[in-house]
Amino acid sequence: MRISVVKEIKPQETRVGLTPAGVTDLVQHGHEVFVERGAGDASAYSDADYVAAGARLVDQDTAWANAELLLKVKEPIASEYRFLRPDLTIFAYLHLAANRPLTEALVEAGTFAIGYETVQDDTGLPLLTPMSEIAGRLAAHAAATYLMSQFGGPGLLLGGAPGVAPARVLIIGGGAVGTNAAFLARGMGAEVTVLDTSAKRIRQLDAMFEGRVRVLMSDPHVLEDELRQADVVVGAVLVPGRAAPKVVRREHLGLLRPDALLIDVAIDQGGAFETSRPTTYEDPIVVIDGLRHYCVANMPSAVPHTSTRALTSVTLAYVREMADRGVAAAVAADASLAAGVNVRDGAIVYPGVAEAFPDLP
Ligand code: NAD
Repeated sequence: MRISVVKEIKPQETRVGLTPAGVTDLVQHGHEVFVERGAGDASAYSDADYVAAGARLVDQDTAWANAELLLKVKEPIASEYRFLRPDLTIFAYLHLAANRPLTEALVEAGTFAIGYETVQDDTGLPLLTPMSEIAGRLAAHAAATYLMSQFGGPGLLLGGAPGVAPARVLIIGGGAVGTNAAFLARGMGAEVTVLDTSAKRIRQLDAMFEGRVRVLMSDPHVLEDELRQADVVVGAVLVPGRAAPKVVRREHLGLLRPDALLIDVAIDQGGAFETSRPTTYEDPIVVIDGLRHYCVANMPSAVPHTSTRALTSVTLAYVREMADRGVAAAVAADASLAAGVNVRDGAIVYPGVAEAFPDLP
């Protein structure tokens, strides 16, 4: 199969869809791999690394035109819509439920679109998990940084000091993001509470943290009590394939300390806080209703060395399956991959996206 890897052009995106080691694997399986010049630069993979791995270097137009299967990290942005066509499969993070223009473009072009974020196996969402783990750990870094006064914070050390209370971190959603944020924040000495709505997940977290983190079933009263005490609130909820539930409403903001920090990791699915607006690493904080919101939509792009390798390590098996068998046959044979199909033959096939846009085919 002809497989292309393009340079990410979404602002601040520093990852790339395949490592040179991934190229070697696919070439050894008899496939042709085209890599856009400079695609790996921001992840510290040079063009020479890709050539040595067996890829052919091409320009952007050729990479898209040659591809039967196109590997990306983030969803195509408006300037890339012109490359969409019916005999093309895109494998990338798409997050369509929060992106009507791209959903329309994929439907109109008849492109076969498989979203990393909805591929599902019996462990959950295997292609979202590594990035969530990284984003969760980075949320603890962001909390530590933006509590400091020179970054506009109240001048709190996350872990406190001997004899001085640590900061209180409230994490809403105890999945991959929430657990990793809790591990790192707790590791830095913060007092951490995790809220979730799944009794099963709460039991797992309770056993995992052995009392080092408070784990509570979320209900409206618990949420309000915890918001009043928090120095940092991390939004880490997910309902797969859907826009994030707005757990913290505008009227909740009045319960918070005026110098509290809101970190909305779920912003890529529309945000867990009603007031959130997406930000970037260039200007990560936005003040809304007097409260600082940190809403960087692609947090793992700050650590592209780590993130690119983590991504290829989980996508490669699916890419190989599609390349070896053909996309349609691979999807038919693998229920996990089939769950990733969002748009096919000019129609939305993923239920959460169809519900978000009931007027589209
Ligand atoms: P996950 O499925 O592992 O965990 C989500 C958790 O939220 C689950 O335990 C679920 O029970 C819980 N939950 C759902 N509704 C809830 C509610 N109303 N109140 C409390 N808990 C609730 O998901 P994840 O992988 O941890 O991802 C969390 C979010 O982070 C997603 O929106 C994901 O898209 C986003 N994310 C963002 C970035 C970024 O760079 N900003 C990176 C990775 C993931």
